[in-house]
Amino acid sequence: MDLQILPIDHPKPRISDENNLVFGKQFTDRMFVMEYDSGKGWHSARIQPYAPFVLDPAAMVFHYAQEIFEGLKAFRRADGTIALFRPADNFARFNRSARRMCMPEVDERFVLDALLELIRLEADWVPHNQGTSLYIRPTMIATEPMLGVRPSNKYLCYIILSPVGAYYKGGVAPVKIWISDFYVRATEGGTGEAKTGGNYAASLYAAKQAAEDGYDQVLWLDAKEKRFVEEVGSMNMLFLYDGKIVTSPLRGTVLDGITRRSALTLLGDMGYQIEERALTVDEVMEGATNGRLTEAFGTGTAVVISPVGSFCYKDSCVRLGDGQPGKLTMELYHKLTAIQYGKEADSHNWVTLL
Ligand SMILES: *Cc1c(COP(=O)(O)O)cnc(C)c1O
Repeated sequence: MDLQILPIDHPKPRISDENNLVFGKQFTDRMFVMEYDSGKGWHSARIQPYAPFVLDPAAMVFHYAQEIFEGLKAFRRADGTIALFRPADNFARFNRSARRMCMPEVDERFVLDALLELIRLEADWVPHNQGTSLYIRPTMIATEPMLGVRPSNKYLCYIILSPVGAYYKGGVAPVKIWISDFYVRATEGGTGEAKTGGNYAASLYAAKQAAEDGYDQVLWLDAKEKRFVEEVGSMNMLFLYDGKIVTSPLRGTVLDGITRRSALTLLGDMGYQIEERALTVDEVMEGATNGRLTEAFGTGTAVVISPVGSFCYKDSCVRLGDGQPGKLTMELYHKLTAIQYGKEADSHNWVTLL
């Protein structure tokens, strides 16, 4: 398939204040788009001006939520070059999500090459300040106008780019987490491991309640016994428990995070023993009190590493540490971001340079 490159007529003004970028609100001048029709496959791949789509009100995505997405970042390095972090892993996961949602797979190499070309054209949009990046959002939606319940015969796949600020402006701040004993995010056999919008729609109600009560995030328990800790919002959870790293195994209800994987590899390099097992909510609450649980943090592309300051479950709250992020948490945060921004050697070949 050819990639067509269309001109832009009216470039937007460039980023005026890199220190005040709001996450996911501003988009660049161009986007990548391709279309799919059953029997024909993917076609009309192009880089075109960023613009709204015209979609039929009956388009299946609006009714039955056939939608998947990805999230990754491009980083500007001190020497001006631009680096992507493990982008092939994102497109591999995009295809795993596509299979689960009965959507067509994409040619991973083609789409990654198209993304690299798009970022080359939009290079001026990759911000320069410490901690800033260009957030990349590949998306696929079902577009066939049809109200019958079955997989769509038409799809749009597109990639949009958004310059984003440093997640932590005043230093890395520990978050307050509410452990939900009622609402659940994903069930065994469900779509928890697919990166699909419906999982997020299902999570909003509990997240809204948590926010109203002053919490930053919801920690989800397994849906069956409401006993085992799974993940948080858009982050996987890692715990330093008895001096070992403990994190939920990937058994269908937890998203296979690329930051999680990278963190586990780096922690293994640092000599930590890794246990992929589900910690119980009692282990978390008691562990924070009796000293067996010393650090806990979330991992995800947007935030990188997010230290937990406290957990609240039913009527009790426990604190971790002294209100400061844990020592290992910060060491890992610095190691991972140093690789992303090219300040430390990329010994695992995670970086793709433009
Ligand atoms: C995207 C996502 C993550 C984090 O994955 P990364 O690849 O590390 O960004 C974790 N949990 C959920 C539910 C997600 O959607």
